[in-house]
Amino acid sequence: MDWDVRLHIAGEWTAGSASETLPILNPATGETLGQLAIATRDDLDRALAAAARGFSEWRKVSAFERAKIMRRAADLLRERAEDIARTITTEQGKPIAEARIETLAGADVIDWFAEEGKRAYGRVIPARAEGVMQIVLREPVGPVAAFTPWNFPINQAVRKISASLCTGCSVILKGPEDTPASCAALVRAFLAAGVPSDTLSLVYGEPAAISSYLIPHPVIQKISFTGSTAVGKELAALAGRHMKRATMELGGHAPAIVFGDADIDQAVQVLGANKFRNAGQVCVAPTRFLVHDSVYDRFVEGFSGFAEGIRVGNGLEPKTRMGPLVHARRLDAVDALVSEAVAEGASLRTGGHRIGNSGNFYAPTVLTEVPLTSRIMNEEPFGPVALVRRFSEDEEAFAEANRLPYGLAAYAYTRSAARAAEVSARLETGMLGINHHGISLPETPFGGVKDSGYGSEGGSEAIEGYLTTKFVTQARA
Ligand code: NAD
Repeated sequence: MDWDVRLHIAGEWTAGSASETLPILNPATGETLGQLAIATRDDLDRALAAAARGFSEWRKVSAFERAKIMRRAADLLRERAEDIARTITTEQGKPIAEARIETLAGADVIDWFAEEGKRAYGRVIPARAEGVMQIVLREPVGPVAAFTPWNFPINQAVRKISASLCTGCSVILKGPEDTPASCAALVRAFLAAGVPSDTLSLVYGEPAAISSYLIPHPVIQKISFTGSTAVGKELAALAGRHMKRATMELGGHAPAIVFGDADIDQAVQVLGANKFRNAGQVCVAPTRFLVHDSVYDRFVEGFSGFAEGIRVGNGLEPKTRMGPLVHARRLDAVDALVSEAVAEGASLRTGGHRIGNSGNFYAPTVLTEVPLTSRIMNEEPFGPVALVRRFSEDEEAFAEANRLPYGLAAYAYTRSAARAAEVSARLETGMLGINHHGISLPETPFGGVKDSGYGSEGGSEAIEGYLTTKFVTQARA
């Protein structure tokens, strides 16, 4: 495996014109894997010119032909899944089984969007006068600038590339500097499948320098960003100033309400698996566990046992269930949030410390009785930390669930149909899983409300963000 990752601009895998590079690190060992090329203004100008050409070329290709090419890319991803999974695990840290699932799920995303692009229907509106035809056309918005993070290097990028390509848009992807080789492997699959080289560019570099150049640029017509709320607000403001369409998939702080009538064993297993998946570096990870008094002790005991049973290690080892955090900054950030909460009176049930002296390993952690004023109860921990609080009346749980400005995902466990209906009516969230997790499928909407952003990354809603509406009215000559 060649770990020196290049930019893809105008059909060329290039080292770019910058003299410096960024190191690519293995988060499990700290070793330097290779070097990442970074884009200068000149490189971005070439990518922009390619995106403009690529858009004029690709929009003329029929949705049927685009779908064939995309489905080939999906098949290539499946064929290459084992290599790609190893790449993800080596540079990102997650267990290899999770990396395989991510890659295969990425292929499903491509297939789904390939088909959905064929259904970007317009409509005919009955006219008021005889001989008049009123047509609504849906057209591709234009070249897209997509910004994706490191937690799911394939999955975050594949949704944006697929939505762009299936609607006839070209795309410049600014991939994650921490996990660049996985994104490069994805781009290679699209190009090998027949996506014209000007249609898809891949750049890396100083994120703020790239976004502040691409977003206002007249070639770019649409922005899609996944990352923190703080950065998302900056980019959305810039997009607004330049009247660019935007999809924002931002942070979360998901509540998981466990009612007294829930199946507690099931809640422990499903919430545990989803809390510690990808070492908690998941925007929809359950974070604030609100547990009814009557089942609180049983839940805390079960959940802490689940956390203690997780085997932490290098993701390439088959028995590993949780890998390291992606970079040292994350390790410091999580450790600081946990230490502050404990100093402020939270009770540490398990974890709360780093593991070993090399690699970014942090123990699966459970905190209870965390003060609402603690930073960790208000900022996304984005790490393997569960925060458990008790409630006695349902109203208390609803109020706490809706307290934060975030509204990405929420979960609830109950055997009562009436309670489930109440939960779905009351929670301010973009996605809600009741008695199971299943909220991230290609065919279902994926996105938040409030500070968690706007627009959707899944379902038929996703392609709306990549289409414009043109109304044509024509009278018989
Ligand atoms: P970070 O803000 O440095 O990076 C997060 C991502 O945003 C990276 O991919 C980065 O390249 C990108 N980014 C940052 N500034 C940017 C800018 N000005 N323009 C364009 N892209 C930019 O933070 P981090 O330490 O890597 O992660 C911190 C927080 O980010 C996490 O706590 C979490 O809240 C959030 N995050 C969210 C997701 C998600 O799936 N929603 C994924 C990764 C990180």
